[in-house]
Amino acid sequence: MSDIETLPGAFLRGEPHLWRNPNRTGAGGQASAECDITLEDIRAADARLRRFAPYLARTFAGPWHRGPDGQVQEGVIDSALQPLPRLQRALDLANPLWLKRDDALPISGSIKARGGIYEVLATAERILSEAGLLPEDAQAYDPSLFKTAQVRRVLGRWSIAVGSTGNLGLSIGTMARAMGFRAVVHMSADAREWKKRRLRSLGAQVLEYEGDYALAVQTGRERAQSDLQTHFVDDENSRDLFLGYAVAGLRLGAQLDAAGIGPDADHPLHVYLPCGVGGGPGGVIHGIRLALGERAEHVHCWYAEPTAACAMLLALATDRGARISVQDVGLDGRTVADGLAVGRASQLAWAATKRAVAGAYTVTDTALMELLALLNRTEGIAMEPSALAGLAGPGALVAAGIELPAGANHLAWGTGGSMVPPEEMAAYLAA
Ligand SMILES: *Cc1c(COP(=O)(O)O)cnc(C)c1O
Repeated sequence: MSDIETLPGAFLRGEPHLWRNPNRTGAGGQASAECDITLEDIRAADARLRRFAPYLARTFAGPWHRGPDGQVQEGVIDSALQPLPRLQRALDLANPLWLKRDDALPISGSIKARGGIYEVLATAERILSEAGLLPEDAQAYDPSLFKTAQVRRVLGRWSIAVGSTGNLGLSIGTMARAMGFRAVVHMSADAREWKKRRLRSLGAQVLEYEGDYALAVQTGRERAQSDLQTHFVDDENSRDLFLGYAVAGLRLGAQLDAAGIGPDADHPLHVYLPCGVGGGPGGVIHGIRLALGERAEHVHCWYAEPTAACAMLLALATDRGARISVQDVGLDGRTVADGLAVGRASQLAWAATKRAVAGAYTVTDTALMELLALLNRTEGIAMEPSALAGLAGPGALVAAGIELPAGANHLAWGTGGSMVPPEEMAAYLAA
């Protein structure tokens, strides 16, 4: 276990740590050898989401995102890039701080609205197209198509199943039920009660497990294998989920241009992404890398994890990917950040990004809750604990002695929170 012995002791004791990637290969522009998902694939995923945009606009209330030109983009699942000048001052940061508002994404209020909804739409499209029920070469589907009895009957024969710590289940369950699929969500012990309640109210079946996320996923996967009419959304391995997240990276370039913050040699951009299994942040990183091409060299992406559930940092630092878990090194995986309470990284996300990321850092639960309160006090934004891991990034760089040039920018990915019930948020703030 020599690779484990080289890990610093403080890290193994659950203290905050920053790991810099010695294997980073600089510029993007091409897919890594370890991942065959190309820019063309991501563009096709974007086109698929746009085919469904009129249907999503008709089915859900939004709030829909405004594009860089200020126009409302109905049915497009995307979020704003918002400056946080007051929090920047409160944190005493020399460089501008930005928040990517995925906490306010339409339909399910977390980054899972990207991957989860994409996978349900992709599955529906495949089933309906095999049944000959979709027009070929459509740029956009007529929303009324998905309300017809014939389409509802065909989709109603299928179940969509998923194992989740909460937000993925919420996203998949919401979309699957809206389309008329049956939905089965296997929830780990970390999942919040309100997420289960909401899913049940939508007619999804929620199965609860005493154990952690890995057990919920494993059970869901096994159950789905014995049922040919079930599509299992595999958070640890799904290509569709990853593609849905990667679309965020594809679209980010135009937003950065509109904000006038580079990235270029004089304006490096540090992006901090809360990480559970890594599919969400990994997909975004892969998308940024491919979409920005040469400019990706000036984007430094960091995985952000709880000290006790630092699955990706461990996967990267030991180069073992999904073959090692935090429990293997004596950490317990327990954290207030329920969306990040994961002990083992996704092999797909790890392989796709292990040469692309700047590194990974960990943050204590105490620091997450302090940031949660500070963000709320200074900027009036309420996010769930997991989503604050990104905002710990600037401090983690300082603590590691990493200095940034005057033109650099910090971008924290806000990954969830707008659907948290007010009384739950009040309890977070009181803590
Ligand atoms: C799921 C989730 C993440 C991380 O996504 P992974 O794909 O598990 O890495 C981050 N923040 C929130 C709020 C989440 O729900």
